[in-house]
Amino acid sequence: MTTYYIPTSTCPRYPLKKNGMEQKNAEYAQVEGVPCQFVKHADDMIYLHSFVSDPDTVFRVPVAEFNDQFVQTHVAEGLIYCPKYPGGKIHESEFDKRKEASILVAQATKLLIDCEPLKDKLDQLMQSQGSSKAATLPEYFGYRDGSKKLKSIENLGDAVFNRSKRWQPPVDMEHDEFKLTKGFPAPLGIRPKDFCLPSELIHTVKEMLVQMAQFKNTNENFVKFIKKIPGIVVEDKVHCCKYCGEEVDAAACTSSYKSATNYIEICHRDPNAGFSSGNMYWGHGDCNRRQGGYTEEQRIEDAVRLAMIHPEHMSLLRKLLG
Ligand SMILES: [Zn+2]
Repeated sequence: MTTYYIPTSTCPRYPLKKNGMEQKNAEYAQVEGVPCQFVKHADDMIYLHSFVSDPDTVFRVPVAEFNDQFVQTHVAEGLIYCPKYPGGKIHESEFDKRKEASILVAQATKLLIDCEPLKDKLDQLMQSQGSSKAATLPEYFGYRDGSKKLKSIENLGDAVFNRSKRWQPPVDMEHDEFKLTKGFPAPLGIRPKDFCLPSELIHTVKEMLVQMAQFKNTNENFVKFIKKIPGIVVEDKVHCCKYCGEEVDAAACTSSYKSATNYIEICHRDPNAGFSSGNMYWGHGDCNRRQGGYTEEQRIEDAVRLAMIHPEHMSLLRKLLG
């Protein structure tokens, strides 16, 4: 049975290479609240694998630091207790599911030879964009060892990671509270609306791939690939933008097309709701901008309010409603 430990602070660690030596560059593998699998105890070092590292990546911690910065958590019926996560626990199988979504996206991306802009957008699904204010590793080390003198720590770092895995713990914290965390200025998680577990990411990625297979003028090899994915059914219909109801045309995404980069975008029916297949879809870039940062409901309320204020708009509304 695997044993799990939960870090009480975020701290950069050096992943080990295949030969057992530490890599040159550190990464935020030890993250406050993120479960780590115990690998082994050898030579006064504890070897661990973090949920937010790439699969098969191990880091090590001297025993004294380990005792100070980790607590063992319990597992019952496959559920790992980790209070920083929604519901306070995650299933052990989430560790194994991390690879599946990235493999799917890598395979799908290879087939999108004539749709360059879509490759980048598909990649965006995989990670949260996060905060560009997050402390970089040189900033973190500089602050911790005192070599980086700061006028104030008001503006140092952010609780939210810059570009990270979507299964970092969701965090919503003011800077004053963040400054008091044990691992400051190391980040602690991601924005709640960017969060999803690997199983949810797989589900959303599959749904987005099905929509792509239903674009007008979609690539036939791509459709063949999608149809072979177990459990996926591609209905014979053209995918439509959920904001205007019009078809989404893959041909407009080729590099010969003027607005190719922004013709198709990942849209959210509710921009503030979480990362989920029901909330996300491929729509027109123009429609995405028209919707702005608002929900569909807010847009409808605007239209009705305008009609209530201005009689000429009320007649227009009545005419549109037929
Ligand atoms: Zn549209």
